[in-house]
Amino acid sequence: MQNTRHDTVRFDLVIFDCDGVLVDSEVISCAAHAEMLNRHGYTITPDQVLERFLGVSDREARQTIEAELGRALPDDFDSQMKQATLRRYADELRAIPRIDEAIAAISLPKCVASSGTPEKIRHGLTCAGLHDRLAPHIFSASQVERGKPAPDLFLFAAGQMRAAPARCLVIEDSLPGIAAAVAAGMSVLGFHGGSHCRPGHGERLRAAGAAAIFDDMRQLPGLIGRIGTN
Ligand SMILES: [Mg+2]
Repeated sequence: MQNTRHDTVRFDLVIFDCDGVLVDSEVISCAAHAEMLNRHGYTITPDQVLERFLGVSDREARQTIEAELGRALPDDFDSQMKQATLRRYADELRAIPRIDEAIAAISLPKCVASSGTPEKIRHGLTCAGLHDRLAPHIFSASQVERGKPAPDLFLFAAGQMRAAPARCLVIEDSLPGIAAAVAAGMSVLGFHGGSHCRPGHGERLRAAGAAAIFDDMRQLPGLIGRIGTN
């Protein structure tokens, strides 16, 4: 006898982005980035960091800032910023509301694919109480040549989890992340419930290729069922 449910569900794997999807980290990261830049003579608010540099790689952001400053930031600026971010995580980082319930309600295999370093991902998920729910299936952009918006990380994660790209569903909150999922030939849902999301963000995710958008993790299991059986 055939397994009807398995035959009709389109997905074999759900791939979660980390920052802004599992952990509400973007506002904290922007505050740490602004703090370090001000300390080195570059005046900027956390909101301006969010506006100008969210989704931009650290290297590109640094080049822009150094061009405007007219001088180089210290060699150890990146590690100073990392330490400032990780310090704030311990006190301030929270899981995205209801993500634990959503993870529990999704019976498909799951993994994490994040632009962060392995240390940052592990620390963030641990602070939010999610690490042990998702380990060891956690992948970092440091394991591939090109980060998002290139498809490399999602394809790598799918390969490690032995899932065909066309049978993967990605959950993303950023435009480069949506672009990476589309380039990988995967379906993608756009989440716009993080503290950093401004009005109109969901519509931008949809325009970039999200099959559907949502702002409450309680919606996720139902959405997966709906788009997975179309
Ligand atoms: Mg993100």
